Amino acid sequence: MLILVLNAGSSSLKYQLINVETAEVKASGLCERIGIDGVMKHEIAEHRKLEIDQPMPTHKEAIEFVLNILTHDDTKVIETIDEIKAIGHRIVHGGEYFKKSVLITPDVIRKIEELIPLAPLHNPAHLLGIRICKQLLPDKPNVAVFDTAFHQTMPEENYLYAVPHEDYLEHHLRKYGFHGTSHYYVSNEAIKMLNKRDTKVIVCHLGNGSSMCAVKDGKSIDTTMGLTPLEGLVMGTRSGDIDAGVIPYLMDRKGMSPDEIIDYLNKKSGILGVSGISSDLREVLKAAEDGDHRSKVCIEMMSNRIKKYLCSYIGLLGGVDAICFTAGIGENADVIREKACAGLEFLGIEIDKRKNKKRESGNREINKDDAPIKIYVIPTNEEYVIARDTYNLVKKD
Ligand code: ADP
Repeated sequence: MLILVLNAGSSSLKYQLINVETAEVKASGLCERIGIDGVMKHEIAEHRKLEIDQPMPTHKEAIEFVLNILTHDDTKVIETIDEIKAIGHRIVHGGEYFKKSVLITPDVIRKIEELIPLAPLHNPAHLLGIRICKQLLPDKPNVAVFDTAFHQTMPEENYLYAVPHEDYLEHHLRKYGFHGTSHYYVSNEAIKMLNKRDTKVIVCHLGNGSSMCAVKDGKSIDTTMGLTPLEGLVMGTRSGDIDAGVIPYLMDRKGMSPDEIIDYLNKKSGILGVSGISSDLREVLKAAEDGDHRSKVCIEMMSNRIKKYLCSYIGLLGGVDAICFTAGIGENADVIREKACAGLEFLGIEIDKRKNKKRESGNREINKDDAPIKIYVIPTNEEYVIARDTYNLVKKD
């Protein structure tokens, strides 16, 4: 069964056409600069890549263009749109309403709308994607898969902030966590690799956005991102954890507005802010090799923040069976993996430097052979989880 997976952003649209039974990705791509000029990067079955300039005034033209490219000329991978059985939408915020993926009904749309104050940039774009799919493909079922759903198992004491309780009750102020689809997929792969009952797993999803998750018996019990994706680790352009007192201090000293502060902490901080070079870790690693001091400090800061959370999650879980690294940095940056685990040998976390440096695809183990705690590199696959959830719900329906 073919499922179209869509991730509609404010000016972008990511897509994959997946055969769920075989996990084959028939085509994938990214439409960027929607509403500006429009560029599409399209890849057919991992071997043919093309970049097309295509005016896309709105998301409607972008989705029309995707459907067209999948069914026409030499980019054709299916005969007709009818071969697509359903559409799976990635939705950033499901609040406390959604603990798992759901078929999209008018009530689901209403709830995603209601949650806009919690995800003002993301949820409106997702809603747009859903509405356009309903217009262009009126007879196809749509499924919503939420980034927050996996973390809905966190206990109260871990999701509440230590602020007056009325603000949780009246304004839904709490930790929600994100990257749930990835944390679910990776922890589940780790549990299969561990092949035991009663599992304690920590997932480090390290990409442009980064978060960690403590997973007990397959359920999230804590995660580093919070009400918004700003909390936790040092990320590409986000500060992660910071003293809230920084906000009024900067507003006073620099005359910044609330919007400017949020922009500063979300888009100008993190790897970019500390290194002053780039938000892309590859460039910062290179600058550090060339002796750049700020880049070296940045790498230590990132690694130490991961290490701090590793230790606190081992405490919360009461031990750990496996630590997993995933996403762009987690899968590729052996230096960060090595530094994050360094000094934790006394806990049984012993990385094998040779295995860690080796470049391999697929799931792999990088701990020393006789180490008590497994350290895994597990490539994430959020799109596949979205396609599979969509398939399961559509099949049931
Ligand atoms: P996103 O959160 O946008 O999906 P990714 O998961 O693709 O991001 O991760 C992007 C990050 O991964 C960037 O900081 C990039 O520098 C880093 N990265 C990708 N490949 C490598 C590599 N070979 N070595 C080090 N860092 C890498």
